[in-house]
Amino acid sequence: MSIRALSWFLLASLIVHAEDGNTRVYLSEPDALREAFPEATSFSSERFRPSEEERARIERHSGRPLHESEFCIHSAWSAGTLLGYAVVTEEIGCFKPITFLVATDAKGAVRQVSVLVYRECRGGEIARLRFRKQLFGKTLSDPLRQNQDIVNISGATVSVKSITDGVRKVLAAIDAAYLSRGATPAPPGTAAPAVSEERGTVRRARPAMGALLEITALEALPSDVDAAFREVARLERVLSHYRADSELSLALRAARTGPARLGDDLFECLLAARRVWEASGGAFDPTVAPLVEVWGFKGGGGRVPEADELSAALARVGFHHVALDCDRRTMSLDLPDLALDLGAIGKGYAVDRAAEVLRARGVRAALIDFAGNMAAIGAPPGEDGWPVLLRHPRNPESSLGVVFLKDRAISTSGDYEKCFVLDGKRYHHILDPRTGRPAGTACQATVLAATATEADALSTAMCVLGPDRGREVAISSGVEALIVAEPVPGGELRCVGTPRILSELHVGEDCGAVEGAEG
Ligand code: AMP
Ligand code: MG
Repeated sequence: MSIRALSWFLLASLIVHAEDGNTRVYLSEPDALREAFPEATSFSSERFRPSEEERARIERHSGRPLHESEFCIHSAWSAGTLLGYAVVTEEIGCFKPITFLVATDAKGAVRQVSVLVYRECRGGEIARLRFRKQLFGKTLSDPLRQNQDIVNISGATVSVKSITDGVRKVLAAIDAAYLSRGATPAPPGTAAPAVSEERGTVRRARPAMGALLEITALEALPSDVDAAFREVARLERVLSHYRADSELSLALRAARTGPARLGDDLFECLLAARRVWEASGGAFDPTVAPLVEVWGFKGGGGRVPEADELSAALARVGFHHVALDCDRRTMSLDLPDLALDLGAIGKGYAVDRAAEVLRARGVRAALIDFAGNMAAIGAPPGEDGWPVLLRHPRNPESSLGVVFLKDRAISTSGDYEKCFVLDGKRYHHILDPRTGRPAGTACQATVLAATATEADALSTAMCVLGPDRGREVAISSGVEALIVAEPVPGGELRCVGTPRILSELHVGEDCGAVEGAEG
């Protein structure tokens, strides 16, 4: 094994890939907080770093070693009255962490347990309300014995234990931070007491925009990473086409009657979308929203639309119907019922803004991974970059190879992310705006670019354009791309790439035929 391969091997343990097929993202942290405290008018958060004695007490209650050095304890408020506390935590299930929120009332009795992310292939029943409800009303003095106080679920025994131990851990932490001291958190709007933090490797994952956002930062403070998460949560409220109250949804409604003024993030994201729409000859087009809807990919598992549904949706597609005025920062539509879906660019945009937050706070080495849209700040000490595995489009256990990422972004789009099979044919979520149907010539595309925004949008475009035209657009856009042609049954994979990515790629055994190195 070469030194580089060896260092990759060691470093790869730092990276967890969100897209391993089993990961289920249920709720974002803000949504889970709202679900736990629907009557809350505001939330505040404080950090709690338990002393050695408190740590030992928390460990005794949970029956597991404590892996957190500190807790972020949210408090929920309604008109100056404290409603309760909530903590998002992780416990390992069989092999992988379960991310969940535990909320209590102001006296420390469980009021909600919500699973945010579940990554195991079995045991997902613990996310059901019927299981979680058993924990409601429990306090630190309740024993929570498995099979006695908490009914077990066969096939999910380990996950049941992880959740139960985690609930006891959170109850003990809230008790140590506030209840046993007779203390209350600072109400919203007042400065929270400062907690001394230590620099080190911070690695956290949080659900956002319906996907998993994972940040690994070296020599960083936990509050640096929390600030990056907060930035992405803020952008979700701006860019989401799922939320009726997002800035995007409100702007589309306003633009029916005249130019709508946009905030900086929405305007910048739409400008970037327009650049990629132009560069890709319309292959990337955020007005595909009605198509995504008739194909059943907006929140559903997918369906084949009737011909008339498809043509009605296609009639509402075309980014040329959207005018952006750079002086007034407005958007105008010449089709009033036009809809926008920023699903192919929004996560990349959020990654860039999160990287900006980390950089501004002095973080010099970090990797942000938002469901295959990644940005690297610097590199781990002594390394050329962060190792990033390029997944194999048809075998999630295998990879096409590895690239090292430093102060650059990478994004992969594939026909396996959201898809269904009918009569032996695969239908997927990347739609060709010209035909209204799933794109058919490439099954995966990876783009390396200066920004994650561009990499995200262009990787989606490349899936529509296919290997040969995609490679031309990559070259004219000044980015690197590796595009995998739609596989022929029984044939080997055909990968087409730009020269630099091919020279940088440490090709895996399963890469198949590679074209384009000669440039
Ligand atoms: P990505 O995973 O970044 O490739 O984005 C795919 C998502 O973008 C889909 O789930 C749709 O919501 C949306 N989408 C599908 N086709 C297109 C397209 N041709 N241009 C822009 N967005 C698209
Ligand atoms: Mg994309």
